[in-house]
Amino acid sequence: MVAYVHSLAPLEACGLLAGRDSKVERIFFVQNQARSAVRYVMDPIEQLHAFEWIDSNGMDLLGIFHSHPAGPETVSPTDIAEAAYAVTYVILARMDGEWRARGFWIEHGDFREVTLQVL
Ligand SMILES: [Zn+2]
Repeated sequence: MVAYVHSLAPLEACGLLAGRDSKVERIFFVQNQARSAVRYVMDPIEQLHAFEWIDSNGMDLLGIFHSHPAGPETVSPTDIAEAAYAVTYVILARMDGEWRARGFWIEHGDFREVTLQVL
């Protein structure tokens, strides 16, 4: 995930995390249709194909990730306003040249941090 978002910086990169029981088993890299350094819009066709794959493989959509190549390490007001799924939003932010991942649960216009575990 870090290699992917790093390869596309300074543009924002995005994707989907799928799996079972809160454990990610598959990462989908999705084109950022906005081609922007400050926002992302997932390619709807790629997103649809990913959702179909997730369904037909008995998995759940667990998370949506995107990068903030120039920070911040937290969700932006736009991220909060546009959050449409009850999943963990993972932000990969580059601060002082280092990528860091943090997870957030966004609900009713508010957010709280959730712990991410790398197994
Ligand atoms: Zn964002």
